Amino acid sequence: MADKWQIYLRQQAEIGGSEVYLAAGQRGSGAARQEEIGAVVPAPLPSSPAPVAWQRGAPPIPGPGLRIERPIADLLGPGLDLLETLDAVAAKIAACTLCGLSKGRQHTVPGEGDPNARLMLVGEGPGATEDETGRPFVGAAGDLLTQILGSIGIPRESVFIANIVKCRPPQNRKPLPDESAACLRYLHRQVQLVRPKVLIALGATAAEGLLGVRRSLGSLRGEVHSFWGIPLVVTYHPAALLRNPNWKKPTWDDVRIARQLLDR
Ligand code: URA
Repeated sequence: MADKWQIYLRQQAEIGGSEVYLAAGQRGSGAARQEEIGAVVPAPLPSSPAPVAWQRGAPPIPGPGLRIERPIADLLGPGLDLLETLDAVAAKIAACTLCGLSKGRQHTVPGEGDPNARLMLVGEGPGATEDETGRPFVGAAGDLLTQILGSIGIPRESVFIANIVKCRPPQNRKPLPDESAACLRYLHRQVQLVRPKVLIALGATAAEGLLGVRRSLGSLRGEVHSFWGIPLVVTYHPAALLRNPNWKKPTWDDVRIARQLLDR
């Protein structure tokens, strides 16, 4: 019993306070010990849980950045606002020939995940593996994305992942402005249907597509933008992290900001 008290008192000292607090209502040898050391016995303090790994050293939520209002007129294009499910949007995408990318595709990649996700991530466009499978982020960059989500305690199945364009650009080039413009209506409808609490743009193409600006990724990071009232965090694309591991730490900081926005 003496050992237990020593540990307890040491813990109390470690969490601060010059007075020694003991829990109220203790009996038997514990009560005798309280008398012995003349301890103050208040009501139990509410305990706050120990910080989990991602919280330690996490940057605070930064200030506001760009603000994109939802357009008053419906700019989705004919009929899209009538599509009430993500599956219906995916079917529309599968039949889409609005831009030249439709000619080279094996599969459209509409996006996937929890239709009620609180976190939605937006990438650039499908690569080779995504074109083969019809699923977003399934190559090496996808594995890294899954790990990044895990590092903030978020299972990949719980988020929704989409892209700016739903068909693979040849040789994985960046989507052209007219390709992005033609495809954005689908992403907009997906955001409307998922109604996430937080958005993450992965890379400059995703950020530019959502925010409608051409700015460096560096200048778009470090602020919480607002897309139709939804907080939007911009970070590096996982494929860029595979090329430059120095960007992993800033990316971790960005996703820890997103995690705090989710927890608010
Ligand atoms: N890169 C993207 O931007 N999207 C994918 O789906 C895969 C790789």
